[in-house]
Amino acid sequence: MPEIPEIETLRKHLARSVEGKKIAEVEVSRPKTLNTSPELFQQALIAQEICQVQRRAKILVLSLTNTFSFIVHFMLEGFVRFYYKNEIIAKRPSILLGFDNGERLAFFKMNLGYIHLVPTADLAQTPELAALGPEPLSPAFTYDIFNNLLQQHKGMIKPLLIDQKFIAGIGNVYSNEVLFCSQILPTRKSSTLSEEEKQSLYRCIRRILNDAINYGGVYEEKFSSDDTITGGYTPHLQVAYRTGEPCYVCGTPIQTKRVGGRNAFFCPVCQH
Ligand SMILES: [Zn+2]
Repeated sequence: MPEIPEIETLRKHLARSVEGKKIAEVEVSRPKTLNTSPELFQQALIAQEICQVQRRAKILVLSLTNTFSFIVHFMLEGFVRFYYKNEIIAKRPSILLGFDNGERLAFFKMNLGYIHLVPTADLAQTPELAALGPEPLSPAFTYDIFNNLLQQHKGMIKPLLIDQKFIAGIGNVYSNEVLFCSQILPTRKSSTLSEEEKQSLYRCIRRILNDAINYGGVYEEKFSSDDTITGGYTPHLQVAYRTGEPCYVCGTPIQTKRVGGRNAFFCPVCQH
């Protein structure tokens, strides 16, 4: 599932490619992806420009020049691709937006994911966004806030990091990387972390996410035919999906273990 770095990479792509573009047609092949009827969705979008693309955690928010926005969550498999005029779309998208200049934006495999139409004025109160914890890269997310949140929880640290109500936007890939960076084992109870470890964890959350954004995340699906950024962070992963391969720091084989129902990847020597 895409996490903050992948969705932020997409947000930048979308801002460059579709902001200011006027939607001329909307095709809905999978009505269940929407929270309205296909007809209402089409009425809200057609003849409108996309005026702003924002990100909240793993969710994209595309605002229109009328009073509506639509929020996009890809969940496990969904992805979006941009097509220049005359480029061929090989497979059938769940939802397709066509712009008046012939370019198109296609949302694929939105079986678990969703696209919800929301009045822009109600975005802050919409349940999909209102239930989320703090944004870890926001200037408002200070160490004191992080420390206060940690003190309200007692469980293992890795499941906590991917709890979207605790901090929003971290998932299974980056929780592993953040814990390796801060030399903390995924099974450690958050209540046992020292002050130094908590500060290291806070710094690593921000450093790893920022680095991954700068390299384009680990997403496999390119945004467009001329996309050279997406997926550039994959060679920089230290532990995720490297089971049995040597730790880049100490040479010990990386281990995998089920923690909180998800695979945790870690170095048993570097992490404590
Ligand atoms: Zn190691």
